Amino acid sequence: RAKEDGGGGFQVFTEEMGARAAKMLTMQHKLRRALDRQEFMAYFQPQVDIATGAIIGCEALARWQSPDDGMVPPGVFIPVAEECGLIDAICLQILVDSCRWIAEWRSRGLPEITVAVNISGRQFHNSRQLMSIVEQTLADAGVPPRQLELELTESSAMNDPENAINVVRMFRDRGVACSIDDFGTGYSSLSVLKRFPIHKLKIDRSFVMDVTNDPNDAAIVQAIVALAHALNLKVVAEGVETLEHLEFLRSVRCDTIQGYLFSRPLPGEAMAEFLAQGKPEPHPVTS
Ligand code: C2E
Ligand code: MG
Ligand code: MG
Ligand code: MG
Repeated sequence: RAKEDGGGGFQVFTEEMGARAAKMLTMQHKLRRALDRQEFMAYFQPQVDIATGAIIGCEALARWQSPDDGMVPPGVFIPVAEECGLIDAICLQILVDSCRWIAEWRSRGLPEITVAVNISGRQFHNSRQLMSIVEQTLADAGVPPRQLELELTESSAMNDPENAINVVRMFRDRGVACSIDDFGTGYSSLSVLKRFPIHKLKIDRSFVMDVTNDPNDAAIVQAIVALAHALNLKVVAEGVETLEHLEFLRSVRCDTIQGYLFSRPLPGEAMAEFLAQGKPEPHPVTS
């Protein structure tokens, strides 16, 4: 890096940078070992249909059950995994684990729901590989494609829209729906968005959080719902914590909600119990 600057420029290698690099290496090493030992698993956060109150799906969220550090949240290891090229392997373990649980819930005769799996921008770029992995994993688990959904972040969708549009279309033709995640946090071109054969937009938690206090957030959420519906897409709001959030989202005709109001992300077995109980009760988060 220092060399690239060339000419008169030079870069000081500070102690802080050294410490950061060392930390990265340690983490990288731990992640590789965790992959070998298959310590990554999916937790599932229910998604509830606002109109009927029924559970219609869930999102699979990566968790790392580390023998040293306990349950590690994705905010800690996903950025490192992306930087050191291990994200694909981790997402694969999440995909496999998700399909295993779908098959398990099916075998117990629980209500059929969709499971949304997060896909990294890199994986979306290697579309052929992703496609064959997804098809193989579904077939191995004996899961119908209609039960799987893929979440692509707005920024990775818009990064290389032509590729993303093609990949989304290929998946749609094979019965796997795609949605755009964290909508509103990136930069969408509306002319590109309209060409995306996606099924859903997910409104990022950062807009939902203050929707009942901040008129700007309220306006943004209302506008995203209207935009989505105009494009024939369903809308999922994430980070729904209170009954006030729910009532606002109902008033602007949002379709589906995901958040602590109904449940935190659950291990597969707890998700099975959640599915068995039928319509979930809201449990508002109090601050
Ligand atoms: P995301 O896809 O936007 O996921 C939603 C995040 O919001 C999850 O955090 C979830 O636990 C959290 N959340 C949901 N409802 C509430 C709520 O009511 N209140 C609050 N305060 N938070 C809520 P989590 O599990 O920590 O995941 C964070 C991010 O990590 C995800 O954001 C996703 O971008 C990424 N991620 C998780 N699993 C995977 C994975 O398997 N692959 C990839 N590529 N990324 C993943
Ligand atoms: Mg997501
Ligand atoms: Mg999201
Ligand atoms: Mg988000």
